[in-house]
Amino acid sequence: MDMKKYDFLIVGAGFFGAVCARILTDSGYNCLVIDKRKHIAGNCYTENINGINVHKYGAHIFHTNDEKIWNFVNKYAEFNRYTNSPIAKYKDQIYNLPFNMNTFHQLWNVKTPKEAIEKIEEQTIKYKNITPTNLEEQALKLVGDDIYEKLIKSYTKKQWGRDPKQLPPFIIKRLPFRFTFDNNYFNDKYQGIPIGGYTKLFENLLKNIEINLNTDFIKNKDHYIGLAEKIIYTGAIDEFYDYEFGKLEYRSLMFVEEKINIENFQGNAVVNYTDDSERYTRIIEHKHFEFGQQKHTVISKEYPKEWEENDTPYYPINDEKNNTLFKMYKLKADQETNIMFGGRLSEYRYYDMHQVIGSAFTLCNKILKHDNR
Ligand code: FAD
Ligand code: UDP
Repeated sequence: MDMKKYDFLIVGAGFFGAVCARILTDSGYNCLVIDKRKHIAGNCYTENINGINVHKYGAHIFHTNDEKIWNFVNKYAEFNRYTNSPIAKYKDQIYNLPFNMNTFHQLWNVKTPKEAIEKIEEQTIKYKNITPTNLEEQALKLVGDDIYEKLIKSYTKKQWGRDPKQLPPFIIKRLPFRFTFDNNYFNDKYQGIPIGGYTKLFENLLKNIEINLNTDFIKNKDHYIGLAEKIIYTGAIDEFYDYEFGKLEYRSLMFVEEKINIENFQGNAVVNYTDDSERYTRIIEHKHFEFGQQKHTVISKEYPKEWEENDTPYYPINDEKNNTLFKMYKLKADQETNIMFGGRLSEYRYYDMHQVIGSAFTLCNKILKHDNR
């Protein structure tokens, strides 16, 4: 019988790939992980720059409601008590996010939930009977004109390079909206940042697993398919199929990093720029994720851009056109017997980290059940 060298070849050392590699290795399978980048951890990768863990592909805050997922990540890192509370800068004003009593007070000088509810009702009544079909309608119906104008419209246009009328409503429903003085950006039960950075978490997660970096699956597909009984692929699904039905669109980002010789640049990890005077959407000051006391600081300005070949594809664009195209690739993928697809790029979904981990758990459970392990 033709025995292959590995039970599983796992393409991608981000959360989806790394979680599968850990679970399958611990269940007795022989796994090889490859990644085309020069490092592990996918988009969660952090690099230690002068003592500060810099989130090289954008700010990553871990949050989940799922105890199983929380317990799992806590096996590989200790998490701190960081709570994400971004600030929005619109013209010369600053506002608290997400939309809460602090924001309403800053916008309208209201002081009680009753006054705030009345103000929101006054602003949203004319949209009451619409069923939102796009982001703009959804936002207006939820929060009304003032918040849409000052905190959503320009930011969203910069972020997605599209008019909010061309974007799906679900994107804005990610953000909490509450009538308490609570600036926590997430509603989840568990939240934090891995102390020492995400890369350290991934080093522990991938301990004793064979990894080849700087290794592109697509460039040597037949060779890699021949190496293992089964493949788990976490790259872009359209690239896997050589773009045969056409290219899916992604939103990409460019990060401009600066080391500055001051202790505290903006007093917060995340500041969003919600007017259109700057092309960047946010500035991240990395030391605040871990309450750093260094004498210097590192910031990253985040510039959104349309994805072009050789850019990193960050965000799937889940509009109708792209979702339809994705379904064609998905149909093809579902026919594969030895290749499984997962993660943000293969499932073409706007997943957070905990959701990617949940999706990897589901796939591994299926594999283990099928093999009776
Ligand atoms: P990735 O991390 O992208 O990993 C896929 C890996 O596959 C990559 O390393 C890639 O190099 C490799 N690969 C692709 N093609 C090939 C190939 N042909 N050959 C070899 N290797 C290949 N989530 C949160 O929960 N909280 C946040 O605060 C948060 N903030 C975010 C901010 C930004 C700016 C972005 C873009 C995302 C954010 N996310 C956040 C989402 C989070 O990054 C993803 O959910 C998660 O990283 C997805 O993991 P993944 O394994 O699916 O993909
Ligand atoms: N958003 C906005 N103003 C903000 C922050 C977010 O309009 O100050 C909108 C924007 O359309 C964005 C979406 O809400 O794409 C989701 O925001 P989130 O912070 O969850 O985005 P991510 O961190 O995934 O980029």
